Amino acid sequence: MKKLLGILSFLVIFLVLNTVPASAAVNGVVKVGLRYGSSAVTSANLENTQSGGYDLGYYDDGRSFVTLGSLVKTAITMVPGGELGSFNQSGPYGSFDEAASAAGANGGWPAYVGGQFYARWSGGGNSHTSTSVAVRDTGSSAALFEFDCQGLYSLGVLPVGGPTWFKGYQYAGGFEYPRVTGGGLYVVNVVSLEDYIKGVLPYEMGTGWPMAALEAQAVCARTYASVTTKHLSTYGFDMCNTTDCQVYNGVNASGTDTDAAVDATAGECVRYQGELAETVYHSCDGGATESAENVWGSAVDYLIGKADPYEATISIPNYSYTVTYTPSELTWVLQNSGYSIGTVKNAYVSERTPTGNVCKVTFVDTTGKSLTVKGATCRMAFYSTTYGKNVKSMRFSINGDNSGMTTGYYVNGSGSSLSSLSGAYTIAGTGTVTSYTGSAPYAVTSSGTAALNTTSGASNAASASPGSFVITGTGNGHNVGMSQYGALAMAKQGYSYRDILNFYYTDITVG
Ligand SMILES: [Zn+2]
Repeated sequence: MKKLLGILSFLVIFLVLNTVPASAAVNGVVKVGLRYGSSAVTSANLENTQSGGYDLGYYDDGRSFVTLGSLVKTAITMVPGGELGSFNQSGPYGSFDEAASAAGANGGWPAYVGGQFYARWSGGGNSHTSTSVAVRDTGSSAALFEFDCQGLYSLGVLPVGGPTWFKGYQYAGGFEYPRVTGGGLYVVNVVSLEDYIKGVLPYEMGTGWPMAALEAQAVCARTYASVTTKHLSTYGFDMCNTTDCQVYNGVNASGTDTDAAVDATAGECVRYQGELAETVYHSCDGGATESAENVWGSAVDYLIGKADPYEATISIPNYSYTVTYTPSELTWVLQNSGYSIGTVKNAYVSERTPTGNVCKVTFVDTTGKSLTVKGATCRMAFYSTTYGKNVKSMRFSINGDNSGMTTGYYVNGSGSSLSSLSGAYTIAGTGTVTSYTGSAPYAVTSSGTAALNTTSGASNAASASPGSFVITGTGNGHNVGMSQYGALAMAKQGYSYRDILNFYYTDITVG
């Protein structure tokens, strides 16, 4: 999901709708991946301009920080242990300070390895393991600490005194630096659920929105963060910080209003029959939300599509869209997306949901083979980065096609057609309009008149050029759950955040 106030793009949360864990946040603490996988780093800075201090240690299984020692430094840098080169070692020692004192005599650094403290200094023949992470002084590069619990625990750094800078953003809470692959470091922000929500709201909605809308968004974001374990098994943290989960960039963009919305709803979540709900949301529904089963295939009792009378009462940026594909472009897009189909001759909405959203789109190729795509794939079937084209919602219609030459009469190009001449009108040279009663019509051309022919490819066919597929629609996102702009519209009409949540989620409670 993402920033809403500007140009809207995709707003998607993909959830596993059938498996809702009781809770993901452990003891009110969430882990948010900032760098991981292919974005793992070989050095990660922290800058604490508040007090210039850090506690060093690790987060235990209950996500409590276990302090091993402390540093008085403003800027530190975490790197893979191997960056420090081969080393000598003495110990074990009884504490961080004892190890630091012994290391200091040799210009070395204290290390916490396998649960015990050692002094290490450069030289000798020892080398660091693939799970070792070191802390350096950012300015001098001097080694300050080394942590190696063979992957059982990861280095934790807890800034003293307040939010800390990492890569241009300021974060509450502490950090964890897993070295899962033996290569670079992951950077994980370990933060209280409420502080996390304060870092989501400015990006998923924005300061300046009405309080009721911000409060509804806060409850949705909190509920989502309380249930999701999306990245836990793969990366060891709950959520990433992108549109894939919820956009989160720490406290930089927080406003007094977004913070107030979080505080006013502290601890409140959306529940269905007592269980935490999956509060999916999207930018705007274009006129009606959609049932989860028509989008993701599985029915969810509280995610039921309904007509939305609120969005239309406000002006929503980029509310409507028009996307035009030529048959060859559309053929390429479908084939490149893995669909088995030849040159597309026709594309049409073959089924709508009870709320009027697109349930199925059928494509027909020139050999007569048809392909029907369902649910959320309806809009994704038209998605192309190559052509920069994007059907943004499942509320659209398709006009024009390339198929009618054998079955109808095209007038003024491919955009409008007559399936027969029954009911057609003619204009005489005198300007008189009469019902057409003949069977062999002529059209006026630049060189006189020509008989119309309904056979594709005939020289006097009524329409000569291949049609394009013009897709026009409204809305932005997957259409399931809360519409954020709908929430804005409701808030402007004086509805409360509870009203908003109860409208977009069926039969839920808030608390
Ligand atoms: Zn994610």
